[in-house]
Amino acid sequence: MLASFAPGRHGAADYAPELDLEADVAIVGAGAGGSAAAAALTERGLRVVVLEEGSHWEPQQFNPSSLWAFRHLYQGRGTRAAHGNTVTVLPGGRGVGGSTLINSAICFRTPTPVLERWRGESGCHRFSDAWMEACFTRIWATLGVGINAPEFQRDNNRLLKLGAERLGLKGDWLARAAPNCVGCGSCQQGCEVGAKRSADRTFLAEAVTGGAGVYGDCRVSGVETSGGKVTAMVGRTLNPTDDTEVGNFRVRARHFVMSAGAIATPRFLIDHGLGAGPVGEHLRIHPTTGIVARFAEDVKPWRGVTQGYYVDQWEKGFLLQVYTAPPEQAWVQLALPPPEALGWMASLRRSAMAGVVVHDEDSVGRVGRAGIEYWLGDKDRAVFLEGVRTAARVYFAAGAEAVVAGIHGVGTIHREEDIERQIPASVPPWQIAMYAAHPMGTCRMGTDPETSVVDPDGRVWGWDNLHVADTSVFPTSLGVNPQVTTYAVGLTVGAAIAEQA
Ligand SMILES: Cc1cc2nc3c(=O)[nH]c(=O)nc-3n(C[C@H](O)[C@H](O)[C@H](O)COP(=O)(O)OP(=O)(O)OC[C@H]3O[C@@H](n4cnc5c(N)ncnc54)[C@H](O)[C@@H]3O)c2cc1C
Ligand code: SF4
Repeated sequence: MLASFAPGRHGAADYAPELDLEADVAIVGAGAGGSAAAAALTERGLRVVVLEEGSHWEPQQFNPSSLWAFRHLYQGRGTRAAHGNTVTVLPGGRGVGGSTLINSAICFRTPTPVLERWRGESGCHRFSDAWMEACFTRIWATLGVGINAPEFQRDNNRLLKLGAERLGLKGDWLARAAPNCVGCGSCQQGCEVGAKRSADRTFLAEAVTGGAGVYGDCRVSGVETSGGKVTAMVGRTLNPTDDTEVGNFRVRARHFVMSAGAIATPRFLIDHGLGAGPVGEHLRIHPTTGIVARFAEDVKPWRGVTQGYYVDQWEKGFLLQVYTAPPEQAWVQLALPPPEALGWMASLRRSAMAGVVVHDEDSVGRVGRAGIEYWLGDKDRAVFLEGVRTAARVYFAAGAEAVVAGIHGVGTIHREEDIERQIPASVPPWQIAMYAAHPMGTCRMGTDPETSVVDPDGRVWGWDNLHVADTSVFPTSLGVNPQVTTYAVGLTVGAAIAEQA
């Protein structure tokens, strides 16, 4: 039985009832940020422990059922949500690999205007053009980023492309971290094929080769401090079959890194009195809703790359991205009375699907002891509705016979000329069926402890050896899918810690 540090991957079955670990750096959370930080630290010769509450997974263990995936791979078993002027489902990953286990592998560089704003307004000097270019080059190579071959895209992706081309809208195939993808459409239930290059199979694997110890089934729940420093973190080991607590662990280290994601990281800092300033505030999420379009011919949306094509309206504040929802999730997405929704379900094989992803600016969100709040702002709502209308137009241009948006009360739209009337600017937020897979910004980086939670090295203000390396530190929303930026944050904060260690 394992009672102390050992390099490699470990899970509950290996642990003695009391686990006593010691390292140079202890990282909480094995998602994109934590994995990249672990790689950056081990390659600089530091001994790293990564603690993750979820389990290690092999591709053959995944199951394309949503119920199975929610149970094993999702935070709150898929029920995590924010409440405000609407209810927003906030899916997030749980497991060694974090949200990359269930993401669609889409890769975007951080937009240049966003980086300029981070440097100019927030003093994030480490994200220089040269440094970020080096990060992107490394991330592209490590994740094998590229565009999947046309034969794996299939009709769900081709129809959005066709509509966008007919309307003259800018768009492209999505670059993805899945070089051997066969287009089974199940990314968000875990990649059974092993084609997706998630954090556990890439940066974390590099860290393990470099001597890191990755401890799955370990939930960090407490902290010991002395004189402005964190001296240890403690927690419980979990039985992966039912999450019951089966043992204890304690990890001592010279540096600690919170990489538990933009919801759990601020909650941990707040619960343990570690964060000051606006900790938990400024939650951004990229609010999203689904559009389903029915065609005369079969589309079979379950065939093909889960998300392979996008329409680029970044300058206007939104992107349209193809989406593949299994039937049980498509049912939830159809904001229709049951008889009408049943009609759509019966014709699901003739349906194509996309999401509108909004670059949120004036919405207000926070994570606190009372839960997660998100209030869609008027400007963001206007962008949102413009995105939904654009998606409907794209599908009619591609030949759709009917379109339904994730907005209650709108009903089925049968003609292009009815879009403006059925989706007016006055739609209130509570009618919108929102989900958002990109929480960020709750421990934002900056140079002023009054307005930021971590300094430009990712160190929590007021603590010498406590850092954050995940989406929490983004000073603003990105407007594009965030995994690449999160890996870059991990590499950056890891390098900054190594300079001090
Ligand atoms: C369904 C879905 C699809 C997505 N698709 C894409 C996409 O195609 N492209 C893209 O760029 N982005 C996508 N994203 C977003 C992207 O994957 C995330 O933004 C990114 O992976 C977040 O990384 P992170 O390190 O901040 O947190 P996470 O990857 O969420 O990792 C946090 C980890 O910390 C663990 N943890 C939390 N609390 C504790 C604790 N107390 N003790 C121990 N461990 C703890 C969690 O279990 C989790 O594994 C998607 C996200 C989701 C949910
Ligand atoms: S679509 Fe590709 S990357 Fe996604 S689960 Fe299927 S094979 Fe894996």
